[in-house]
Amino acid sequence: MNTQASQKAFEEAQTLIPGGVDSPVRAFKSVGGTPIFITEGKGAYLKDVDGNEYVDYVQSWGPLLFGHRNESIEAAVIEAVKHGLSFGAPTLAETELAKLVIGFFDSIDKVRFVSSGTEAVMSAIRLARGFTGRDDIVKFTGCYHGHSDALLVEAGSGAATFGNPSSPGVPADFTKHTLLAQYNNIESVKKCFADSKEIACVIIEPIAGNMGLVPADKDFLHELRKLCDENGALLIFDEVMSGFRASVNGVESITGVKPDIVTLGKVIGGGMPVGAFGARSEIMNMLSPDGPVYQAGTLSGNPVAMAAGYAALTKLKQNARVISVLNDRASRLVNGMREAASKYGITMQTDTRGSMFGFFFNEREVKNFQDATRSDAELFAKFHAGMLNEGFYFACSLYETGFISTAVTDEMVENTIAASEKVFKEIKNG
Ligand code: PLP
Repeated sequence: MNTQASQKAFEEAQTLIPGGVDSPVRAFKSVGGTPIFITEGKGAYLKDVDGNEYVDYVQSWGPLLFGHRNESIEAAVIEAVKHGLSFGAPTLAETELAKLVIGFFDSIDKVRFVSSGTEAVMSAIRLARGFTGRDDIVKFTGCYHGHSDALLVEAGSGAATFGNPSSPGVPADFTKHTLLAQYNNIESVKKCFADSKEIACVIIEPIAGNMGLVPADKDFLHELRKLCDENGALLIFDEVMSGFRASVNGVESITGVKPDIVTLGKVIGGGMPVGAFGARSEIMNMLSPDGPVYQAGTLSGNPVAMAAGYAALTKLKQNARVISVLNDRASRLVNGMREAASKYGITMQTDTRGSMFGFFFNEREVKNFQDATRSDAELFAKFHAGMLNEGFYFACSLYETGFISTAVTDEMVENTIAASEKVFKEIKNG
């Protein structure tokens, strides 16, 4: 595969943009090699500057549930653009998307739109602190909640990839209210509550996607809910990634555990920059201008982004079954790859949740971040490079989740499995 144009583009970008990228994980650092520079996407495919095509299992890190350039989303964006790019004033599009989002989630009476997942979570934390009048928060090692200061403590995703969990530039004073617990380990959460009576909230990715795919056990989430109730703390489900990917009605609909606040992003913007956070009215009414908790954004509720999100969620509402169809396909994919790997003596742990899939080169089941770090990173890098060469674009870090879109066909899945077998064979034969 010729990637000369990508290499040249990367060299130039590195002289102008730190690391040549606008978000660290894109730099391929953990797998080596050169990031592929993309020129366009169509359906399930990405095309790069050298003219290579790839089946895309990254989907812009989650938003593109319906693949690239989905017709109805594209048409909605073009129509919205014709009316103006931004007004900084209320539009009907915000109310319409709010109605849709609220309709999907039992726990949400009111929602506010922002421009990224980071903003959504940062605002949700402030709201939880304002609502409870407490300062401390509990987060889980390996969960990633965006790059705001208080949450950049033992975070997953790119932060984990670089072994640089607490970033320089984040004052210790800013993170002293962040308590850490271990994912799927309720005793570690009990210890936090024993250590502090000032816990405003516990924030969790109820299906973690930033240490690879690691779902929380249902019992663990129930216990978490109970602990929060007993201690007067709010429970925040960060569904920026899992929202509308793992299920149409949130993880609450799968587990029966109702969060106090939900944060959303990715799919709700249909590929445009959108985040959101929602809760019952009692909590949301604390927000400015109704209440004292300040939160704002020049481009929040941007009409073009709202139109894209509305089109995406409308499609999903009309065909909610799509999540289970995608889950079947994702299961076929990871099961097929696991079987292919085992033929060459390689053990893979695999899992799926709706249109999310994950795999670890690990002898043992992965239940938390510590388990995830025991995976074979070198093997992952070889697998990633081999699959890219075969025309399959997987996330370039073992601490990420894979995504399948409606544009990926059964045939593409079978081709991916066949390619993985070839790659495993090459790896085994050195
Ligand atoms: N929360 C979770 C669970 C995420 O996966 C991410 C990003 O991947 C974020 C928050 C931050 O979202 P964004 O990158 O849009 O700021």
